[in-house]
Amino acid sequence: MADIHRRAHEARAHDLIVIGSGPAGRRAAIQAAKLGKRVLVVEQGRRVGGVSVHTGTIPSKTLRETVLNLSGWRERGFYGAAYRVKQDIGAADLLKRLRITLDHEVEILEHQFARNGVDTVCGSARFTDPHQVEIVRDDGETVVAAADSFIIAVGTRPYRPAHIAFDGRRVLDSDEVLDLQAIPRQLTVIGASVIGVEYASIFSALDIKVTLLEPTERLLPFVDHELADEFRHDLRDRGVMLRFGCKVASAYADAGGRCVVETEDGREVASDMVLFAAGRVGAVDTLGLEACGLEADSRGRLAVDPATFRTAAPHIFAAGDVIGFPSLASTSMEQGRIAACHAFGEPAQAPPEFFPYGIYSVPEISTIGLTEEQARERGIPYECGVARFRETSRGHIMGLASGFLKMIFAIETRRLLGVHIVGEGATELIHIGQAVVNLEGTLDYFVENTFNYPTLAEAYKIAALDAWNRLPKRQPSTVVVAARLEAARRSAV
Ligand SMILES: Cc1cc2nc3c(=O)[nH]c(=O)nc-3n(C[C@H](O)[C@H](O)[C@H](O)COP(=O)(O)OP(=O)(O)OC[C@H]3O[C@@H](n4cnc5c(N)ncnc54)[C@H](O)[C@@H]3O)c2cc1C
Repeated sequence: MADIHRRAHEARAHDLIVIGSGPAGRRAAIQAAKLGKRVLVVEQGRRVGGVSVHTGTIPSKTLRETVLNLSGWRERGFYGAAYRVKQDIGAADLLKRLRITLDHEVEILEHQFARNGVDTVCGSARFTDPHQVEIVRDDGETVVAAADSFIIAVGTRPYRPAHIAFDGRRVLDSDEVLDLQAIPRQLTVIGASVIGVEYASIFSALDIKVTLLEPTERLLPFVDHELADEFRHDLRDRGVMLRFGCKVASAYADAGGRCVVETEDGREVASDMVLFAAGRVGAVDTLGLEACGLEADSRGRLAVDPATFRTAAPHIFAAGDVIGFPSLASTSMEQGRIAACHAFGEPAQAPPEFFPYGIYSVPEISTIGLTEEQARERGIPYECGVARFRETSRGHIMGLASGFLKMIFAIETRRLLGVHIVGEGATELIHIGQAVVNLEGTLDYFVENTFNYPTLAEAYKIAALDAWNRLPKRQPSTVVVAARLEAARRSAV
């Protein structure tokens, strides 16, 4: 570490300084190192990994897995709703697996940096001029580092509005929920966006009484409506109370330890714990952006050229959640890699238009490509094919009562336009659809190919055959007819 500090002092000791070690920063740093560049990653957290490893993606997914395993959720289709693997699940049970997983993730990351010769320094970076940052370390010492290029990958932090009385124990944001001291009996979640929906459904799988408040009239508006309706029905069926059009006026824990959420229309929702999951803001306030001529918008987001991730300052790039939508670890990694290539004049393709979206609720949701609503908006004549997981043998074996896969095909070209899945394994299954959508494949791929049996992936074939039943039957084109006649003539000779 001492060597790194000495080198960081030297003017332009590095070709690239990456601020933030989340998915975008980490991928950018490794890419630049693979191009033979000297890279310094500055991370203000105690350990590398970013929101993704410490408070976002990995912890929430580990929590989900723990809840599903300990509660016996996946087996209840067979053994009934009362089935449990562990009777009394406490906060310590949930956190144990979390720590082990996170330690492992950090270890892998540190090893990756070391293997690729990436320098890291622990501290908060702030631009002092367009080519230099000042790094304030935990111990108070200040280090100065300079480079030709920079990648800002500082991510986001939870939005904490003044009307919510956060106390870190009972009224929590989505970072604090991972330090849970006790499992509540009743939970109110404010915000039915991806994070809110994930936590609401995970806690509901623990038989906690969950109320989900959402100011708009829809759950996950970007998801295909049929899928979102099925999911909403599933949540209600499990006893999750959904309240739409519900604007929150205040939330606080009263002296008796009861949590109260007051809505603008004068209603009150009482519970043991409140989770505020309505938005995040870019972590740019301490970056000293003015020193390098950049400005963020009101939600702390930086504008970039979408093909190269270059900001208004030509040598400074930004990637990951700090540039806004889609704010996923998966897309952030790709953005970081592409930004690092452009920083050093290496060719890098812009990512394809369609990328998979995974929502790790219980049950999972995953989508790629156009929704039915988008196909209609674009004026594309389409037909849908649907398969329920209970129609597959694998679904029977697993005891799946719910879950379905829906595919959307263009009538004219038979091309696959979109795949939408809700149910067990959705976030893995989607990649079959992703390949066919992005390789511009058609319905015939699914009809003509053999799938492993019994699998949930078989749902693709069932859904394709369902669409095939409704699609206009294709007349062979004149080219195909001519080719067939020619083949027949040759074999006759
Ligand atoms: C609860 C939750 C669940 C999620 N689940 C998923 C999921 O299932 N799948 C998915 O794809 N995405 C998921 N996400 C989103 C995902 O975590 C983010 O898209 C991803 O972490 C963004 O990566 P990033 O590199 O932009 O920044 P981050 O991961 O936010 O990392 C930024 C880093 O920069 C550091 N930093 C900030 N300012 C400075 C500074 N001035 N100096 C030095 N360091 C600084 C921070 O300490 C942080 O470590 C989830 C997010 C949350 C909150």
